Amino acid sequence: TPLVIAIDGPSGSGKSSVSRRVAARLGLAYLDTGAMYRAATWWCLESGVPLVDGPAVAAAVAAMPLDMGVDPAHPTVSVGGVDLAEAIRRTEISAAVSSVATNLAVRAALGRLQRAAIDAEAEPGSFSGGRGVVAEGRDITTVVAPDATVRVLLTADEHSRLSRRARDVHGSDSASAMRATRDQVVRRDADDSTVVQFRVAADGVTTVDSSALDLEQTVQAVLDIVER
Ligand code: C5P
Repeated sequence: TPLVIAIDGPSGSGKSSVSRRVAARLGLAYLDTGAMYRAATWWCLESGVPLVDGPAVAAAVAAMPLDMGVDPAHPTVSVGGVDLAEAIRRTEISAAVSSVATNLAVRAALGRLQRAAIDAEAEPGSFSGGRGVVAEGRDITTVVAPDATVRVLLTADEHSRLSRRARDVHGSDSASAMRATRDQVVRRDADDSTVVQFRVAADGVTTVDSSALDLEQTVQAVLDIVER
C-alpha cells in the first residue's frame, strides 16, 4: 500500500528541506503545495488579474496550465511550459501569495489538484511507481490528506524560523537580515492563519520541534515516526 506522508508547518520550519530528504530517502514523490500557491500568484500577476478581485483570481487559477514535477532530487513547477523555479521565490510573490491563498475558491481548486497528485502516486506508472508521496504545506494534515499514513506538524520557535528564512533569502542571519525577514514572515503567517490552522497539531498529528535540531536530525525524527 502506498505511503502518504503529510507535513505541515509555518514558514522557516524547514518543511521543504526536510520533506524532500524524507521523500528521497524512502523513494517517494515530493509535492510542494506552497509552490502551487506561489505559481497561482505568479499567474495572476502575469495575466494582469487584480488580486483584490476574488472571483477573477479564482477564474484565472481554475484555468492555469500548471505542471508540478515531483522528483525530490529535482522538483519543478511550471505554468504553460514556463519554468517558475526562480520567479516564485521573488519577494513580490512572497508578499502577495497570502491574498491568493486566502481565496476559498482558489483553495478548493488547488486542494483538488493536490489530492489528485497524491492519489496519482498510488499508481504503478507514477513517479514513485506506486510507493507514495511526501506532501508538504499548511493544510495537508487537516484538509487535503487527513487520511495520510503519517501526519507531522513541523514547528520551530520564532528565532529559529527567522534565522533559517534570513539565511535562505539573504544568505545571512545578521540582525538586519532577520529584521527584514521578520516583517514578511510574521505577516504572511498571520494572514495565512486566517484560513488555515497550522499553529497547533490537529488530532492524530505528531509535532516535531526542529528548533534544536539540524536538518539531518529533523529528517531522522520524521523517519522515526514513519517507522513506528
Ligand atoms: O510553503 P511556502 O512558504 O512556499 O508557501 C507559500 C504560501 O502558500 C503560504 O504563505 C500560504 O499562503 C500558501 N499555502 C497555503 N496552503 C498550503 C501551502 C501553502 O495556503 N498547503
